[in-house]
Amino acid sequence: MTDSLGLRPWITAPATAAVFDALEAEGGPDCARFVGGCVRNALLGRPIDDIDIATTLTPERVTAALKAARIRAVPTGIEHGTVTAVNQKLPHEITTLRRDVSTDGRRATVAFTDDWAQDAQRRDFTLNALYARRDGSIFDPTGQGVADARAGRIVFVGDPEQRLTEDHLRNLRFFRFHAWFGRGAPDAAALAACAKLKDQIDHLAAERISKELLKLLAADDPRDAVRLMAGAGVLEVILKAPADLDRFDGLVGIEADQLFDCDPTLRLAALLPDDQVAAGGFAGRVRLSNDDRDRILAALAPMPELRSWMSPREIRRAVYAVGQETVRDRAKLAWASAPGTAAAMQWRGLIALAESWSPPAMPLTGADVMNAGVPKGPLVGRVLKEVEDWWIDHDFLDDRFSAIEKLKAVAQGMAY
Ligand code: ATP
Ligand code: MG
Repeated sequence: MTDSLGLRPWITAPATAAVFDALEAEGGPDCARFVGGCVRNALLGRPIDDIDIATTLTPERVTAALKAARIRAVPTGIEHGTVTAVNQKLPHEITTLRRDVSTDGRRATVAFTDDWAQDAQRRDFTLNALYARRDGSIFDPTGQGVADARAGRIVFVGDPEQRLTEDHLRNLRFFRFHAWFGRGAPDAAALAACAKLKDQIDHLAAERISKELLKLLAADDPRDAVRLMAGAGVLEVILKAPADLDRFDGLVGIEADQLFDCDPTLRLAALLPDDQVAAGGFAGRVRLSNDDRDRILAALAPMPELRSWMSPREIRRAVYAVGQETVRDRAKLAWASAPGTAAAMQWRGLIALAESWSPPAMPLTGADVMNAGVPKGPLVGRVLKEVEDWWIDHDFLDDRFSAIEKLKAVAQGMAY
């Protein structure tokens, strides 16, 4: 029996149907099929993120077909055979069927083909080598993609060592798809091959590594996959430091229990050592975005140390010092290191306060200090700092008059 997705709304959506109509006007019926993530996710009842289409048409013919149908064609990866059709704002990545001509572990040289089975052979895992015709019927050229997807088996198409040698990013992708779709014991041959060839990951472009790692960490529950990765030695090749697996497990557990949003960047921070040099080195090496890098380093910084039993006043002081996000992140990391229930209520309260209290602006400025008679120069900053400390000690007293009184006292006490 042929498996079928049926006519799902995303298959029959006018924007997508028009793209198929355009391609079929050029190449005839069944010259294009859905492929990869959209087919796999639909089969498993998961949401569809993006639509990939494979076709027997060459990129030039795809472009011409879209043009004739007045659909915008963007040559997003034309040398690899990919044209993106943007119809009613919805992107469709259309890629010509390919076979590998040569590979070097990082990049492949490809040739176009009209053979669907050949195209399937160069895809990474059986559950990713699934195609669907526009009537929803599934084409499973490896013969085991549907069964593997349903059983949660991540299995290389072909020999794992050979497939890794062609492209070592597949090492990380193995764990990524395991995190998202894996169930039960992992494929032993695949895991052994990933362990054996782990050091080759170092030769990949840094951005490819961080992108895959963050996608892996965005799975609902990546704990098993991360433990497997650590067990195979792959995680250490990437982090260049032993991972804090207990803190990571703790964080994922807390996110699930407390219905916090899944936070891949903070999960990454949880895995990294509490060492600014090592964490910064990692961030630079894999070229994390500046935002992710700054956030991770702030979350792992040693001061101010957070305790679950801090008073509201101390929490406000910490928020004023390092900001709402950092206090929240550090509270989650500290909680994750000792995720027992005893402190859960306190941590939850601390996080709620940190998220709801926006630090007020200091009521005085340098101009106020000079109005109090302090001459322009470095002393202004020193006086202001002393008043600020007083103001923080008084729990951000919302009283400009008292602040000015304090300023006068400080200014008088200073010798200038
Ligand atoms: P998602 O987009 O939901 O993360 P996906 O399966 O669509 O999952 P992509 O990275 O978008 O993953 O890749 C699309 C498809 O291209 C995959 O399903 C797979 O068939 C193929 N593919 C992508 N990268 C590789 C690779 N490095 N080696 C072999 N095949 C790959
Ligand atoms: Mg995709």
